[in-house]
Amino acid sequence: MDNPNLVLVIDMLKGFHDMGKLANPRTAKIISAVRELLERRVERDGWKVVFLGDQHERGDKEFKIFPEHCILGTEEVEIIDELKRFLGVNDSPVLIPKTRYDGFYNTYLDEVLSAMRPKMVIVVGVCTDICVLYTAAGLRERDYQVIVPKDCTETYSAPGHNAKRVKRLVYGHMKDILGVKVIKSQKEI
Ligand SMILES: [Zn+2]
Repeated sequence: MDNPNLVLVIDMLKGFHDMGKLANPRTAKIISAVRELLERRVERDGWKVVFLGDQHERGDKEFKIFPEHCILGTEEVEIIDELKRFLGVNDSPVLIPKTRYDGFYNTYLDEVLSAMRPKMVIVVGVCTDICVLYTAAGLRERDYQVIVPKDCTETYSAPGHNAKRVKRLVYGHMKDILGVKVIKSQKEI
């Protein structure tokens, strides 16, 4: 039998959705699409799921760029309530902590994937142009097939950072430069 596919869920944490300085109202609209994908493909069909999530120490160098967020030991590092029940389903590893944009940097994601050898990796979560992009790049460098459904990723809008424009650029980059299959909706998977 083929190895199961994998859904990689990035930073769907309370600190990016519900509370703290980086809570982002735009991200609420992807939650139901991510949940639907996990219900269909993980719960029903037995695909694997791996959660990756920020866990920073106080004074982390990333806070020179972004406001302080997702400090280890705070509620911000928890998976949002809507997706908590998928943790550990189908003997998948639970939440893998990370401290940088690239989900492979200083984490055990590489080992988990080497053991799992998924045929396809579907990357979902936030932010499209930060952790989703850098982790998708890490996956492609390791020759995994990657799919990104647009209705399952989101980023923030701020002065000089227009979410719509940023996403358009990043999806093009993923497709043309990284060889990621970018699709409109998780329903196509
Ligand atoms: Zn962070």
